[in-house]
Amino acid sequence: MELLFREDPYLKSCEATVTSAGPEGLRLDRTVFYPMGGGQPGDSGYLVLEDGTKLRIVDARKGDTHEDVLHILEEGCDPPAPGTKVAAEIDWERRHRLMRMHSCLHLLCAVVTGDVTGGQVGDVKGRLDFNLPDTQLDKEQITADLNRLVEEDHPVEPRWISEEDLAAQPELVRTMSVKPPSGGGRVRLLDIAGVDLQPCGGTHVQRTGEIGKVRVGKIENKGRQNRRINIFFDE
Ligand SMILES: [Zn+2]
Repeated sequence: MELLFREDPYLKSCEATVTSAGPEGLRLDRTVFYPMGGGQPGDSGYLVLEDGTKLRIVDARKGDTHEDVLHILEEGCDPPAPGTKVAAEIDWERRHRLMRMHSCLHLLCAVVTGDVTGGQVGDVKGRLDFNLPDTQLDKEQITADLNRLVEEDHPVEPRWISEEDLAAQPELVRTMSVKPPSGGGRVRLLDIAGVDLQPCGGTHVQRTGEIGKVRVGKIENKGRQNRRINIFFDE
């Protein structure tokens, strides 16, 4: 399956052909739907048939391999037969917010030191958990640092390195709970030049300015060492 969002996360739709339709979900020969992974939710949207019928896709999940995406049809929807031509369209407004928040969490990694032990990207809020024993975190300072990095409008670029090169630079892996996306001997890195560099398979905006203004919400203690930092769009 061709994963078009990897090369162009701004693609809102694509023409595709159904390759299989089972109870686990629909497979297409190519897709713009990002499957849940790395703390980012799966896309929702529609498959539009040639006669204009719209089939609701409520979620996208990883299938058997890194290149496999299962499109989850709304309950009660009749799946189209293999060979059916469709237009696959994501809920772009939601996805773009997820891209903005996801990119913002990379900035948070640059602002706060400490290993990341978990995280979740949402279209209203996002959060990261840091392993930070006995540290006082200043909410206002983190908000100011994040918004400075947003305003500086840094370019955000994915690139690939070999698994060997990554193994030689273990400091690149900030997130202990998320395994870097790999396959075929290479790993995808997300590079915000001079700000943050780490393995990531998610979808991001092109420049940090596109994230827009954000604010830190609650900073929670989750266990003795874990600090959970909640981020919201400040709109
Ligand atoms: Zn990312």
